[in-house]
Amino acid sequence: MPANTNSVRICSNCDGFPVAHVSIGSRQPDGTLPTLPAVCLHCSGTGHVPATTAKTPALTPAGR
Ligand SMILES: [Zn+2]
Repeated sequence: MPANTNSVRICSNCDGFPVAHVSIGSRQPDGTLPTLPAVCLHCSGTGHVPATTAKTPALTPAGR
């Protein structure tokens, strides 16, 4: 079996980094920074997509 027959691929939208934490305000008195997680909508936060849907999303023409 060839080595390139994986059934999952790294998500093309987030490159395998599906969650980013975004700060939502200033630091708390104890020094912590409150954040909220922003999850990739293409892979639902897994970082991988099935090989059948791993195609690059269609480009949208700009300025139209
Ligand atoms: Zn993703």
